[in-house]
Amino acid sequence: MDDQGALPPHVLIFPLPFQGPVNSTLKLAELLSLSGLHITFLLTDFIHTRLLRHTNINSRLETYPGFRLESISDGLPEDHPRSSDQFMELFDSMKAVTKPLLKEYILTSRRPVTCIIADGILGFTCDVANEIGIPILYCRTLSACFLWLSFCLPKLIEAGELPFRGDDLDTPITSVPGMESFLRRRDLPTFCRSGDLSDPSIQLFKTEIQELPRAHGLILNTMEHLEGPVLSHIRAHCPNLYTIGPVHAQLKSKLAGKTSSSTSSSNSLWKEDRSCITWLDSQPSKSVIYISFGSLAVITKDQHMEFWHGVVNSGTRFLWVIRPDSIAGGDSGSNIPVELSLATKERGYIVGWAPQEEVLAHAAIGGFLTHSGWNSTLESLMEGVPMICWPYFLDQHVNSRFVGEVWKLGLDVKDTCERDVVEKMVKDLMQVRKDDFIRVADEMGKLARKSMGEGGSSYYNFDRLLKDIELMNA
Ligand code: UDP
Repeated sequence: MDDQGALPPHVLIFPLPFQGPVNSTLKLAELLSLSGLHITFLLTDFIHTRLLRHTNINSRLETYPGFRLESISDGLPEDHPRSSDQFMELFDSMKAVTKPLLKEYILTSRRPVTCIIADGILGFTCDVANEIGIPILYCRTLSACFLWLSFCLPKLIEAGELPFRGDDLDTPITSVPGMESFLRRRDLPTFCRSGDLSDPSIQLFKTEIQELPRAHGLILNTMEHLEGPVLSHIRAHCPNLYTIGPVHAQLKSKLAGKTSSSTSSSNSLWKEDRSCITWLDSQPSKSVIYISFGSLAVITKDQHMEFWHGVVNSGTRFLWVIRPDSIAGGDSGSNIPVELSLATKERGYIVGWAPQEEVLAHAAIGGFLTHSGWNSTLESLMEGVPMICWPYFLDQHVNSRFVGEVWKLGLDVKDTCERDVVEKMVKDLMQVRKDDFIRVADEMGKLARKSMGEGGSSYYNFDRLLKDIELMNA
């Protein structure tokens, strides 16, 4: 790459400031760095501080030549919670405050920036790139099926399928090409249920998605064999797609043998509780259901209790991540029914945050009760772990439909968490239909590994991405 003495390309990567996107985009940054590129990974101050607090990120990144971790302001006060229901405040603030800072940062960078890779929902980054005159590639860390759904929002409105109120949720949705036979109202993101077209989230996704073709290309953490039909629809709008997923697994396989098993590659914004791995070590093979609703979902106390009763009544062993901020109004403290406490001591384990990739790869895990975040879905799929899906927001509702109906990787129980339903679903996944689900999940894991291997589509597309960035440096 550097045969004529020229410096390698310098890529500035700017992720969406939430756990899921930071996790997968940082892994993409590491992959690019391992291929010889110089990287500046630019976070917001808020995320940067938390990442430094809970990981060994600085010493880990020291091993990458030319890798810099930097931060700029998102414009919100330090004590602002930046939670999922304050999305719009964060976006507005970043447009007003972060945009000029980003421009200034690039213009004064000691090393000229060859190109920007930014999250496609942050459309202002394309304005900055155009004003400075450097190329930009977008990345989206959500599923391609959600991306395509977002592209089709104007079609849904034109067809009169949007808006609707949160009723008759089984009504079919027929104006999303490629999904006509299985999509229902309940599979659309929850912001579609407001009955109001001026809903800020509908406006945001409708507008920002039309911006994607402005970039030189679009990087997606997915695989051709998984989302092929949807990807061909997206290609009509964004011809230059780099489908390079699953990024976490690509990085893991590149690092295999290079790092010791004690070196954590965590990008967590919470402190990982590794004691759960020791607990898993003492559990029988495929006997434990792992429960986690990701980094942003907040459930009510009632929902929490229904899940807890359902899982306990199923008699299955469980490992449950309960983030400190994940139950509205705080956890149930001392009011926990005695039968739940006893059963949890006997066959359960609860942590505040887990090393999830390692958990899903553990031999004791036989299923995943998940909120269907895209990273969690890919991590589960890669390890051949079947899922029970209880989506919370955004892409999760359509992801869970694909998991249940298209990929047959598990059960989609969205919109209900009554204890009897949860009990039945856990029994179905972990006992009654266990072998069928595991067979399909194993097959999916194999296909994913094939797409990452030499000759596979993700391998080819990552190589193409590298070559295209090198050409930008010429
Ligand atoms: N995660 C983790 N430990 C946990 C829960 C989640 O490391 O206890 C990681 C998980 O591996 C995934 C990310 O957090 O990479 C969550 O991203 P996802 O897209 O699944 O959901 P989000 O948090 O964005 O809703």
